[in-house]
Amino acid sequence: MEHVKFLKCLICGKEYASDEVEYVCPDHGNEGILDVRYDYELIGSRISRESLAQNPDTTVWRYKPLLPVQPDAAVPPLTIGGTPLYKADRLAAELGLKHVWVKDDGRLPTASFKDRASVMAVVKAQEKAQSSIVNRQSSIVITTASTGNAAAALSGICASVKQPNVIFVPEKAPQAKIAQLLVFGSTVMLVKGTYDDAFELCLQAAAEYGWYNRNTAFNPYMTEGKKTAVYEICEQLGWHAPDAIFVSVGDGCIIGGLHKGLKDLLALGWIDHMPRIYGVQAEGSAFMYEAWRDGEDVLTKAPVSGVTVADSISAGLPRDRIKALAAVTETNGAYIRVSDDEILASIPALARATGVFAEPAGAAAHTGLLKAVELGLVSADDRIVILNTGSGLKDVAGAMKSVEMVGTKANRVEPNLADLQRVMATL
Ligand SMILES: *Cc1c(COP(=O)(O)O)cnc(C)c1O
Ligand SMILES: [Zn+2]
Repeated sequence: MEHVKFLKCLICGKEYASDEVEYVCPDHGNEGILDVRYDYELIGSRISRESLAQNPDTTVWRYKPLLPVQPDAAVPPLTIGGTPLYKADRLAAELGLKHVWVKDDGRLPTASFKDRASVMAVVKAQEKAQSSIVNRQSSIVITTASTGNAAAALSGICASVKQPNVIFVPEKAPQAKIAQLLVFGSTVMLVKGTYDDAFELCLQAAAEYGWYNRNTAFNPYMTEGKKTAVYEICEQLGWHAPDAIFVSVGDGCIIGGLHKGLKDLLALGWIDHMPRIYGVQAEGSAFMYEAWRDGEDVLTKAPVSGVTVADSISAGLPRDRIKALAAVTETNGAYIRVSDDEILASIPALARATGVFAEPAGAAAHTGLLKAVELGLVSADDRIVILNTGSGLKDVAGAMKSVEMVGTKANRVEPNLADLQRVMATL
């Protein structure tokens, strides 16, 4: 992979060839998160905005020269990427804004943003399996811990290529996400503990059994899959980058990925400014918000409890906290803290203004925009994108709670017109 220059440790700055280390910088236990660095000159000679305009492939692979895979790498058949960017004029008007778009990644094959990362894990694992055929180790098992969506994404993409996998999720993950894992045929471990417990167990298991490890942040290639969302956003906006992007934050891998993608586009000269990135966190899981507000060192700050109705952004110790902090501080963005009730209220608010049904963590990006307007962080002329990271069908219990909270009820009616008329008269 000549377009990948090296992997750089975000703690000590040491640089490694991509075949020299697999996951983290060996000098800092599990915390030495690596960043993939590219040769933009070479990439720019292989792909351009003009060549993209001619490319009929609407999946993330349209950006293959910008991804850490071989040019001829085989990719799974599911269509990952190409999600819609909707202009949300009514939502904008309600907030006194002019230009708001919703990027709907609830539309990806397993219904969350995580497909963008998990597909990268599957391609990298298969690359590894091929290179180790020589060592008679042709079959490889992929593993991940997850609050649910990264697992469902890995599970579905593995099913599409018959790739064995073992998944660790907290036993309290929403039923829909667990159902996806079982339907796709993964080996499922329901961990009697939190996501953080599941993560630690998965790291130990991967080391013990020699499995390929997809874990967020720990695996440096997850960021690289996630960055494809901003390539799409900028391309969908005619390479006129937005001024502000709102995204919810748990482990911080998505927000770090968005930042990375934007840095790539700036380096290539395809966009002319860096958008401000706003990270939205739930009150009960606000590690990044606190660290940002108080100027704390994310490497020494103690974990928080991580309790929130938005299960996908429950992370007591955000695994990608170095990249997640840089995404906000280096772009003049901010971290924004919102309550669980505000997040729930955003589910129907976003749905009714745009037709996009989000799970709690997806709706939290909308809540963050509401707060930013209140705080004066955005101006009427800003071009703003909010990212829906997961489908509302992922968490029906959360959705039902949200409509109950805003007082929307279904009507019960006898199967005759007279009773319908009685009910209609009460509305
Ligand atoms: C994983 C996830 C997030 C948060 O992403 P991080 O990389 O953990 O910050 C937000 N929303 C949804 C729906 C997710 O699945
Ligand atoms: Zn290091």
